[in-house]
Amino acid sequence: MKILFLDHSGVLGGAELSLLDIARYYQDSCLVVLLAEGAFKTRLEQEGIPVQVLTSQLTGIKRDSSFWQSLSSLGQILPLIVKIAQLSRNYDVICTNTQKSMVLGAIASLISHRPLVYYLRDILSADHFNRANLWIAVAIANTCVAKVIVNSKATQSAFVAAGGKAELTQVIYNGFLPDRFQQPPENAIQLRQELGLEGQFVVGSFSRLSPWKGQHVLLEALTHCPQNVTVLLVGDALFGETAYVERLHQQVVELGLGDRVKFLGFRADVSSLMGVCDLVAHTSTAPEPFGRVIIEAMLCRTPIVATAAGGVLELIEPNRTGWLVPVNDAVNLAGVINECRIHPEQAAVIAQRAYQYASHAFHLDETCRKFSQWMELVKSFPNF
Ligand code: UDP
Repeated sequence: MKILFLDHSGVLGGAELSLLDIARYYQDSCLVVLLAEGAFKTRLEQEGIPVQVLTSQLTGIKRDSSFWQSLSSLGQILPLIVKIAQLSRNYDVICTNTQKSMVLGAIASLISHRPLVYYLRDILSADHFNRANLWIAVAIANTCVAKVIVNSKATQSAFVAAGGKAELTQVIYNGFLPDRFQQPPENAIQLRQELGLEGQFVVGSFSRLSPWKGQHVLLEALTHCPQNVTVLLVGDALFGETAYVERLHQQVVELGLGDRVKFLGFRADVSSLMGVCDLVAHTSTAPEPFGRVIIEAMLCRTPIVATAAGGVLELIEPNRTGWLVPVNDAVNLAGVINECRIHPEQAAVIAQRAYQYASHAFHLDETCRKFSQWMELVKSFPNF
């Protein structure tokens, strides 16, 4: 089975990290085509996964671009589509990983007569996309795509609610290799020292800095916690949300949180950093399609609290494998932080149960097995 993966992004977001895991499985028989240079390309190269970057004019199309802006940009990218179509002739299936790449992949697949799979990792709703782009995504998926693989039931429901055909969809959750998240305890002790966290109850947030990831709610929650509670904000503004980053810094000053908040930027050592946290907080203010960070925290045996919306509801069994709090509710969030701080032994029991659960229910082997099963089926679909 030879697969051409297509992703428009050059950065390492959750969608790209998940694609990396699957592409590793097809290392000898795939090509990852990207439409931007960046850290994702570097990471693929480091891992020996074939990658090619096509120069892109795609910066003109944004999630909130108008229909006409999107159309005029499409006029500039025909050479890209032709190139993708040429490349795909050497592969059995085209698998697109993002909405923009799906639009290009769809036209390329019509030219090259290769079946198209859309790995949908977004909640297609007005929270994230404007109406025209939603309509385009759903219309193309319904007419050109052989299979829409969705990363959660929440993503599936949103696709169907937006007009997508339910029968096209198949849920395949993100998968992880539990061994990659195991760290010797002495690492955590050393890292705590390096970061000046001794004696602190550490709450970590591991998400790109973006308004809907809700880091501001965590800062607000910190004002309801004692002085020995510190927050680590791990992640950066991946898609130009620099105004939000400035607002977060300003909020720290205004709330008098001073050195109780550490901005660590984007880090490649997420599992080590989760190892130093007493609690991981996932605070999205809009429904999260999946929430990789939640399963990663479970695999690190670090307790997790997350906002109750979207795919998160499929990952956490409240009070058994983690905690759920309402979105935008700093007081409730602080309540869980303080509960966890006061009763660490109960939190450890929940974290251990979550580890057992996640290491079986979200194993990468199972994700890749299901994915390849569907790729084989798609390859044999008629009419391509
Ligand atoms: N991540 C990372 N370094 C950081 C912050 C986050 O590698 O500094 C990773 C994190 O471990 C997770 C991914 O980025 O694997 C984020 O995925 P998630 O599904 O939580 O959110 P998304 O970015 O897809 O919205």
